[in-house]
Amino acid sequence: MSKGTKVPGYMQGKGSRNPRGIIGDREIRYKCSLQNTILDVLRGRPGWQEVPGQNNIQPNVNQANPKQAGQQSTGQQQANTGKSGSGSTTQGTTSGYKGSDGDWDFYWCDREWLAQNYDTMFLYEHQKILHFRNHYELTRKNLMVKNLKRLKKQTERELGKAEGQSFEFFPTTYELPSEYHIFVEEFKKNPGIIWIMKPAARAQGRGIFLFRRLKDITDWKKGEYQPLSDPNREVPETYVVQRYIENPYLIGGRKFDVRVYVLVVSYNPLKVWLYRSGFARFSNTRFSLDSIEDTYVHLTNVAIQKNAPDYDPDKGCKWSTQQLRKYLSAKHGVEAVKKAFKGIDNIIIKSLQSVQKIIINDKHCFEMYGYDVLFDSDLKPWLIEINASPSLTASGKEDYDLKFGLLNDLLNVLDLENRLTGKEKRVGGWDLLWEDGPILADDGNMECAPNGTTASIPNSFLGCHNERKRQLRELYTAAQSIKKS
Ligand code: ADP
Repeated sequence: MSKGTKVPGYMQGKGSRNPRGIIGDREIRYKCSLQNTILDVLRGRPGWQEVPGQNNIQPNVNQANPKQAGQQSTGQQQANTGKSGSGSTTQGTTSGYKGSDGDWDFYWCDREWLAQNYDTMFLYEHQKILHFRNHYELTRKNLMVKNLKRLKKQTERELGKAEGQSFEFFPTTYELPSEYHIFVEEFKKNPGIIWIMKPAARAQGRGIFLFRRLKDITDWKKGEYQPLSDPNREVPETYVVQRYIENPYLIGGRKFDVRVYVLVVSYNPLKVWLYRSGFARFSNTRFSLDSIEDTYVHLTNVAIQKNAPDYDPDKGCKWSTQQLRKYLSAKHGVEAVKKAFKGIDNIIIKSLQSVQKIIINDKHCFEMYGYDVLFDSDLKPWLIEINASPSLTASGKEDYDLKFGLLNDLLNVLDLENRLTGKEKRVGGWDLLWEDGPILADDGNMECAPNGTTASIPNSFLGCHNERKRQLRELYTAAQSIKKS
């Protein structure tokens, strides 16, 4: 598209959109900074057009509408920043359009790009971009726990201790070096238990180790934190030290964690979708507490497991969430599994609420989180961490199909084509879990519910059937006739 000659799509009125992926008189233009499944999905989307070049947009400082968002500090209550204003500011600011930010309608950008450009970027009404500006409040291990602890305390204060118990889904955690002394006190109170050390901002199991003795950590601490005479010494890396879950639920003697996909399209009001499919990632070696230094036993990251000497790439070490739910239901009954999975809903909502007032809300932004949840031997789910960039690289055909459907349905939810009514509770494999409050399932949607259930159940179907294509066909037909009438 040649800049300056055409007006942005939103200015041409919603009525002129058509279902082939065209905004106004032109196609939907996207940018993508990744070369994996998401790019395949975008390229396969009818009527969507790739903007050449990656991550090459020049920031455009909009003089008329300086970015308040980037100037607000963490912890401040945020209202919608509405970067494009209500539309009138935007339309009046032709200099904004002249900048290259108007070249795309949808941008799957990486976090680094957003961090560098968001504060000086101008966005039009219709533009959508991956990530909220300060997503790290939830996705950095130390900040996630800090925010959860704060909301837990506030809940206890306002609603009582019993309510606070609904936050007991994250293991006791301290930030190092800042909370070292509190940690040592706690350590001494619980002799013999196992702790896990994790760098706060790294991923894929890097830099993680388990320990039982304080000496193990003091040796490590000397290397990391002992003040050296060199004044140019780098600030020590932040770690979290966390109580290790010593009794994970085992299948075939192996530990696993569950990847759950969650889509947030707004923080204010909070609007959250939960994807039905995901997977369990198993460790390659039988679980034992005798060998706490063996990462193949204790860390379930695929990045770690694929290096195990006896790793079989054909078998991989994944189960679909459907397989897992079926297995657990057969073993423990539908009710017990329903309760366990309800615990995951609670984790999702509480964690998002813990940052709801901190995240810089922006109607242009959305986030697809990858939650890592671990069941203990009582089937209680524990939150391990939340990723803002869950891996979209497929490890095999099944994994590819899962991610392809997941991402296609994400675009269906965002609905840049304007095909939906906006009232949908389910779009493909995504179910609306929360919109300023819990969403209840429609009567006809009782999959995974125990036989004979008549009471309202939450609109949450993790690990249930995901006949997304059939559902989409029906959905679009229904939406079309509603719109016509
Ligand atoms: P990373 O971001 O490096 O993947 P995680 O916090 O996800 O770090 O931890 C990596 C893996 O270590 C998890 O997938 C899980 O298998 C294991 N793990 C992490 N924390 C705990 C814990 N508190 N108890 C038991 N296992 C854990």
